[in-house]
Amino acid sequence: MAHVLILIYPIQGHINPMLQFAKDLASKGPKVTLVTTSYIITNSIKAQIGNVSIASISDGYDEGGIQSAPNLVAYNDSLEVVGSKTLAELIEKYNRSTEPFTCMVFDTISPWGDKVAQSFGLPSIAFSTQSCAVSAIYHQVKKGVLHVPEPGITVELFGLPLMERADFPSLAVKDGPYPTLTEVNLNQFNGTKDDWVLFNSFDELETEAMTVLKDYFHARAIGPCVPFLPRANGPGNTYGMSLLKPEDDMCMKWLNGKPANSVVYVSFGSSVSLTNKQMEELAEGLRSSGKYFLWVVRAAEQKTLPKGFVENPGDNGLVVTWSQQLKVLANEAIGCFLTHCGWNSTLEAICFGVPMLAIPQWTDQPTNAKFIEEMWGTGLRAKAGEEGFVQRDEVMRCVEEIMDGEKGCQIRENAAKWKELAKLAVSDGGSSDNALNEFVAYVNEMAEKRLKLQKVCI
Ligand code: UDP
Repeated sequence: MAHVLILIYPIQGHINPMLQFAKDLASKGPKVTLVTTSYIITNSIKAQIGNVSIASISDGYDEGGIQSAPNLVAYNDSLEVVGSKTLAELIEKYNRSTEPFTCMVFDTISPWGDKVAQSFGLPSIAFSTQSCAVSAIYHQVKKGVLHVPEPGITVELFGLPLMERADFPSLAVKDGPYPTLTEVNLNQFNGTKDDWVLFNSFDELETEAMTVLKDYFHARAIGPCVPFLPRANGPGNTYGMSLLKPEDDMCMKWLNGKPANSVVYVSFGSSVSLTNKQMEELAEGLRSSGKYFLWVVRAAEQKTLPKGFVENPGDNGLVVTWSQQLKVLANEAIGCFLTHCGWNSTLEAICFGVPMLAIPQWTDQPTNAKFIEEMWGTGLRAKAGEEGFVQRDEVMRCVEEIMDGEKGCQIRENAAKWKELAKLAVSDGGSSDNALNEFVAYVNEMAEKRLKLQKVCI
C-alpha cells in the first residue's frame, strides 16, 4: 500500500496548506504520515487531523522551536543538519516496519528533505506553498530568463499585468537585503520536465503561470488547500494545527451580533511585524472609518499599537491576539479583509468570497496584492504615502470604496465568481480534483514498483 511521508516546514503558513493536502490525499486512499519538528508536535493545538498520522524529527531546537534560534539563517542551518539526520533515522525505522514509506512530498523551501529521500531511493515530490506566478518568477529569475526590472521600468510577463520592480517578490531581487533567503527562494525548483511539482492553487486562477511551470516540470495545481465546502474532511473551518491559541469565543460572540458585510477583518498573518507609526495609521484609519473592525494583533506585537488601544479601540472595534481565521472569513458579517496578502490568506479570502484590502509588506505579498487588484479584481491595494507606509486617510478611502463604493460592487461580484470557481476546482471532476487523482495514481504506481523491488531484494 502507498505510504506518503509529507515533510512540513515548521511555520503556520506552511503547516496549514500541507496539512490540508495531507488530509485530501488520505481521503483518496494512500496512507499519509505528516512529519514535522517535535517542538511543533508538542506545542501546537491539534484538532481534526482526520486520517493522517504524525511523526516527529528534530530541528535542534526541541524546547523553543524557531523562536528560540538566534536568527532565521541559524535556524535553517540547524533544521537542515539535525533534520536530515533525524529524518533518515525515521525513514529507517519505518523501513523495518510493515508500513514503509513509498514516497515523500517535501516543501520546496526544504530541499534537504529531497536529498535524504534520494539517499534511500525514495521517490520525492516537491510542494510549493506559494502562488504559481511567484514560483514561476523565482524559477525564471534563477534561470536567467527573467530579470527584475530597475525602478521605473515595467515588464510584461507571460500574459500577466505589466509588472514593475515593486510588484516582484521582494526576495527575487538578487542584490536585496536578505541574500540567504533570496538564495533559498530562487533555488526552490531543481527538478526537470518529468518531475512532479504540486502547487497550492488552481488552474482557472493561474492559467498563464501554470502554462509556464508546465514547460519546466510535471506541474499540477491541486488547491486551494483550504478546508472549505465541498471538502468533506474538515467541518468547522479549521486546518487542525494551530501554534497560537485563537480567541474564538470572543470573536464569534462579537461577530454574531453584526449585520451582514459590516465588519472589516484585519490580520497580517503569523510573522509580519509593523512599525509603531504604521500601526497608529491603521488604528486611526479604522477608527475614523466608522466601520466595525476585528483586528488580530499577536500578543508579541501589541506593544506597537497606540497606548490603551487594545483595551479601548472605540465602540466599533475589537482587538484579539489570534483568530480562527477561516471561521471569521466564513461569517457573513465580514465585508472586507484587510490583509498582508500571505498566499494562504489570499486563497482563503477567495474561497470564502471576501473582498480584500491589500497592504503587502514583503516576500510574495506584493505580487499577490497585484493579482488581487489587477488580475482577479477581488480587492484594492492601498497606496503607501511618501514616508513609505499607508496613511490613515488611505485606509479610510479604501475601506469606504470596498464597503460602500461603486468599485466595491464590482469587487463583490468578482469575489463571488472566484469563490464559485474555487469550489468547482476541488469538487468531483474539477481541475484540482482531477490533478489530485492523477497524483494518487502516480503515488500508487510508485508504491507498487517499490514494493516489488523490495521483494526482489529479499
Ligand atoms: N491565521 C489564523 N488566525 C489569525 C491569523 C492567521 O488562523 O488570526 C492563519 C491563516 O488562516 C493562514 C495562516 O495563519 O492560513 C497565515 O498564512 P499566510 O500565508 O496568510 O501568512 P503568513 O503567516 O505565512 O505570513
